[in-house]
Amino acid sequence: MKKLSSLLYLVFFLVWGSATAQVVGIQELAKYKSGDTLEDKEGWVEVIKGDMPLVLSVPHGGTFKDERIPDRDCPEFGRVVKGIDRNTKELAMAMQEHFYQKYKKRPYMVIANLSRFKVDQNREIQLATCNDALGIKAWNNYHDAVTAVIADARQHGKIFFIDVHGHGHKVQRLELGYSLTAKQLAWAYNRKNTPKMPPTSSVANYLSAGGKRDFHDMLFGEYAFGTLLEKNGVRATPSMQDPHPQEGEAFFAGGHITRKFTAKDFPEVFGVQIEFHFRGIRDTDENRKKFAETFAKTYWEFIEHI
Ligand SMILES: [Zn+2]
Repeated sequence: MKKLSSLLYLVFFLVWGSATAQVVGIQELAKYKSGDTLEDKEGWVEVIKGDMPLVLSVPHGGTFKDERIPDRDCPEFGRVVKGIDRNTKELAMAMQEHFYQKYKKRPYMVIANLSRFKVDQNREIQLATCNDALGIKAWNNYHDAVTAVIADARQHGKIFFIDVHGHGHKVQRLELGYSLTAKQLAWAYNRKNTPKMPPTSSVANYLSAGGKRDFHDMLFGEYAFGTLLEKNGVRATPSMQDPHPQEGEAFFAGGHITRKFTAKDFPEVFGVQIEFHFRGIRDTDENRKKFAETFAKTYWEFIEHI
């Protein structure tokens, strides 16, 4: 794998609060302890080491507009979206803090601090960087960081990977992107999908490892992640209660990061892209804390039953 060589050279700094930063290789993540924060030297990418098989990736919450990288402008490669997913870093941090306070466990986190104006970590490299050399470096730093975190988190068991986003759609609910479109979800719900569909979803590795639950269960069953969220008071689709978006309703199926890191190259990983609505979830410190509590409860129920 080409990525591996660049991974070995990737240099990270360990940040000791305001004290002197120490240079470490990301391949040495194993030497650090849960709760340590590592950053690339440019301040583009931040990693917080965890100690449980849960990884939160936060690619669109960054506000750092590094002036050395031009604003993305390459419509020839596709639709260039530059909007920030407001407060997603704060939401993910609240989730991590709650896990630690209540359960003395920490999910791993990979956070893009670099603004989406400069690099979109959730796109393939060309559209992500518009071929800017520094942008490419920043994209690689993020993707290599996720790879390194997965390699470290593996010791704790099968990894549940969540790519954290924010949507501005009309229907106020969590959109769970299993790399399946609204139409595919409707087919799956009615058991009209072909056998080719489950292996293209973001739970493919869970299914092929012979997990207790089948494809339909993982999306719509009693212990599907969405079903448990609904039961705990947070609207989510797909779920038993809200199986799939209706025709004409906007829905995010999951992007590049989710597809890449739940594919066969990462056989110990399964997961989902979660698009969070704003009001009541991401908007205030209090709501983020409240959601973090619900999230952790849902996570434990989910892990216990799959
Ligand atoms: Zn996003």
